[in-house]
Amino acid sequence: MANCVLIASDGDALLVDTPYTASLTRSLIAAAQRVLPTPASISRVVNTHANGDHAYGNSLFPHADIISTDANLDHLCLEPAPEQLQTLLDNCQEEKPFDRYLLAHFGRYDYSELSLTQPSHTFTGRLELHVGDTAVELIEVGPAHTAGDLIVHLPDSGVVCTGDILFIGDVPVHWAGPLSGVLDACQKVLDLKPAVIVPGHGPLARPADLRDYMDFITAVREHIHSLHAQGLDVQDASRALLHEHRHTRLGLRERLAVLTSTEYRHLNADPHPVQLLQLLDSAVRLTPDCVPTSVPARHRAPHRP
Ligand SMILES: [Zn+2]
Repeated sequence: MANCVLIASDGDALLVDTPYTASLTRSLIAAAQRVLPTPASISRVVNTHANGDHAYGNSLFPHADIISTDANLDHLCLEPAPEQLQTLLDNCQEEKPFDRYLLAHFGRYDYSELSLTQPSHTFTGRLELHVGDTAVELIEVGPAHTAGDLIVHLPDSGVVCTGDILFIGDVPVHWAGPLSGVLDACQKVLDLKPAVIVPGHGPLARPADLRDYMDFITAVREHIHSLHAQGLDVQDASRALLHEHRHTRLGLRERLAVLTSTEYRHLNADPHPVQLLQLLDSAVRLTPDCVPTSVPARHRAPHRP
């Protein structure tokens, strides 16, 4: 679902992002234990941002220090807790297109064992750590994907973990924006001259992949700004963008409507907080072809009515 990175050195270990469900987290812990000296070696967890697919597994690390940015706590107010997401899915009605979309994307996961576990240690700007003898730099780059994004830099090995600043393979979704903030965050990654980039989603990347992604974001941003300047409202601008980009090789094109809404919120200086589900609901309404006609049985958990 999303990438997690284990950094281990001299008997100590730090995990960048936690998995989406309890069973995925247990599998990750079991895999980690094969290379760690003791089961309790993961003493610190870093959340690159507060989306559930990067932080719901926090509750399975009760003894670890959980580190993120101060601003990450702002996004947590907008994100459904695992219990809320489970209740939402349990009450989905398959005759409703948006509910079928939710079940198709989230119904295969079981969130019932998890509870919201917030960061125990937050910072602003930059935090330098050591895991054994390995230097680790946490660099705040938000607001961009969410209010409080950070990237993780391992200067000795030239690795950068970007969280959801970067998606490889799908159209990205960005909840906070503006898109110029995402581009600035990407530039900060490039400035570190990384050898290997770990995106939030998708395979490992190189700087050339990040530059291609920045070209895509720049083109989308310019298109949205031109539609806004022509006086189109957010719905019509989303339709125009979806029409223009219908042949993109990237998956999940409905997210273009979320990007349009995010950028419009900034262009219109809209002071209202982001409504994540509402944004997704409008995106799905604009792209009915992304809704499956039926939901496979495996997307309905056994305990679900
Ligand atoms: Zn993600």
